[in-house]
Amino acid sequence: MAIERLVEPTLAEDAEEEKIEISLRPVTFAEYIGQEHLKNNLRLAIEAVRKRNDGSTLDHVLLYGPPGLGKTTMAGVIAHELGASLRVTSGPAIERAGDLASILTNLKDGDVLFIDEIHRLRRAVEEVLYSAMEDYKLDIVIGKGPAARSVRLDLPKFTVIGATTRTGALAGPLRDRFGIIHRLEYYKEPEIEQIIKRTAGILKTEIKPEACELLATRSRLTPRIANRLFKRVRDFADVNGDGIIDTVVAKNALELMEIDQLGLDPADRNMLRLMYENYGDRPVGLTTIAALTGDETTTIEDFYEPYLLQMGLLARTPKGRVVTEKGKKHLEKRKSGGKE
Ligand code: ADP
Repeated sequence: MAIERLVEPTLAEDAEEEKIEISLRPVTFAEYIGQEHLKNNLRLAIEAVRKRNDGSTLDHVLLYGPPGLGKTTMAGVIAHELGASLRVTSGPAIERAGDLASILTNLKDGDVLFIDEIHRLRRAVEEVLYSAMEDYKLDIVIGKGPAARSVRLDLPKFTVIGATTRTGALAGPLRDRFGIIHRLEYYKEPEIEQIIKRTAGILKTEIKPEACELLATRSRLTPRIANRLFKRVRDFADVNGDGIIDTVVAKNALELMEIDQLGLDPADRNMLRLMYENYGDRPVGLTTIAALTGDETTTIEDFYEPYLLQMGLLARTPKGRVVTEKGKKHLEKRKSGGKE
């Protein structure tokens, strides 16, 4: 039983939604809130490329971390700050080596190629990418059978920005080709508040400071979720009030969405509950958890687990995952009606 979640990177539902999504994306370092360490490193690297002005490009960049923390957004910011064009693709979208070859040969000097979910590239495609990243050459085989021959083509000097939720899933040789590797961290609550304020400004909606604070505590320290919650609460305020988001509106909307004090949604609680009810304090393997919730193991690893671990509700042991004391207390509190 998979429950629809606020966390998943589902595509915008319609053109209007998509327009809003695009309008919310920061374009410059100044607009990109938080991740100071990452920004400082990238600013320096970009500045160095500019100063050299010898046709060299920014090192390939690998960004990793849970979904919704701003990897795609950062790729856009980097391209913007470099004054470069951005091409966007993803690991699963590049089916054959030929698809990658056509993307690469259409790039121009200085372009940025963003590959989302880069850990999901097929092996054959990945191998073509190695030499392309290493020395801007493309090795392709023309023809079949005994007449086949290998040709080396020169490629423009480009920068790959790879995004992945887990670096562990990336083949060593691919990882080695990135000069800049960076983990995106969960945001701090005041940063999420700033993001919500910014979103409210762009969407021309009034939000009271206490309501903004409340939403920030429920956003799983993740900008994508902060924006999604904001949009739902805004709809709620439009339908049930005068469009202004105050604490009462925010609380009622959160209750309707069943988002609890820690930002957990029904799917998170369902997973914790199933684990605890069936296994108590014993560690549970990933595949068992997936069987319990009806999700893919990758969904558990990418969408549920990182935040539950971050919040100390779940722990990883060599034998599997366990619900922590804090996790148990949280479930108890909900059970006894400990809502907002
Ligand atoms: P990821 O690629 O890591 O899954 P995205 O880059 O798609 O995450 O970010 C999700 C949304 O969150 C974006 O549409 C953007 O509006 C917002 N966002 C992400 N990072 C920031 C940030 N640092 N400041 C403001 N908004 C952000």
